[in-house]
Amino acid sequence: MEKVLVTGGSGFIGLHCIQQLLDQGYEVRCTVRSESKKQEIVDSMTTHSLNPHNLEIVMADLLKDEGWDEAVSGCEYVLHVASPFILEVPSDENILIKPALEGTLRVLNACKNNKVKKVVLTSSVAAIAYGHKDQKVFDENDWSDTGPGITPYAKSKTLAEKAAWDFVNQLSDEDKFDLTVINPVAVTGPMLTSDIGTSNEMLVKLASGSMPACPKIHMGFVDVRDVAKAHIFSMKSEKTNGERIILSDKEMFFVEISRVLNEAGFKKAPTREMPNILVKLMALFMKELGGILGSLGRQSTTDKSKAKNLFDWEYVSAEDSAIEATKQLVSMGLVK
Ligand code: NDP
Repeated sequence: MEKVLVTGGSGFIGLHCIQQLLDQGYEVRCTVRSESKKQEIVDSMTTHSLNPHNLEIVMADLLKDEGWDEAVSGCEYVLHVASPFILEVPSDENILIKPALEGTLRVLNACKNNKVKKVVLTSSVAAIAYGHKDQKVFDENDWSDTGPGITPYAKSKTLAEKAAWDFVNQLSDEDKFDLTVINPVAVTGPMLTSDIGTSNEMLVKLASGSMPACPKIHMGFVDVRDVAKAHIFSMKSEKTNGERIILSDKEMFFVEISRVLNEAGFKKAPTREMPNILVKLMALFMKELGGILGSLGRQSTTDKSKAKNLFDWEYVSAEDSAIEATKQLVSMGLVK
């Protein structure tokens, strides 16, 4: 039985990767950075997976060297999913950049030392389409501009992904392993623990009516199950070797996704848009709005053709994904 390491086993996307891998008969090892997360993962897989016993959980922190060689040892494949993801703009950008960049290099170095066959890295559309002044349809040839104006999160994802490509491109023939990078847009969908993940927080805000109207933000959406599926497909498929792959069902303005929720019965979800000036004022009090100010009013569109050509399944629609997640958020008492 092949063994796969999933880094960031406690996270929203990491848990779906673990669940799908277990259900497909893989042995899975995952990393956490605190003991307290272990039981939560075991409980989740006992509930959601057909093979919960094939899971091993080990400790490793992206900011520390210890644990990574042991975590990777004996694994044919590594899905490197872990990276800090927060909406707020931190006081120091290195809070995000250091673990993303140095952590990726720690994981890849351990992959080299342990003769891993292939790594799939979870990057983001934030490494492709951010920090640009022009508006266009972004594709896998584009890189975010890490100059002034980019958010620390987008910078962390861009620098980490670039470092990963540099790392594998410089490997000797003897040390070489394959790399595929998945670049998802905003990920929504069902949660496998009580930790709802950063992107579903946006649905909480919309469906609970905590904002009177929607900021004029345009972004792509994709369901978490398709993101996990794309990681596992890429892990096994040689066709994806050396590729970056944008993963998006479709783009929508916040007000469009909010109207979908409203029509589905979440009547507090706003159906109007807010003037940009008001969003800027609100951002003075709501830190989590800081990260979206640069995107206000801009269309953010990506080319989805590479993924559609490679992956042979229909995505869960952005609308169904958001509705399903919001129903779960209601049942968890997070949307009233
Ligand atoms: P989560 O916040 O749910 O998961 C992040 C994971 O990274 C957690 O397991 C977290 O551990 C772990 N992590 C963070 N910092 C460290 C650290 N210093 N050492 C070890 N582990 C750490 O986010 P998502 O599941 O949504 O994100 C997973 C990946 O997907 C990230 O790389 C993110 O950038 C990327 N992504 C996410 C998108 C989205 O919309 N959700 C869109 C595009 C890309 P802990 O539980 O201990 O905090």
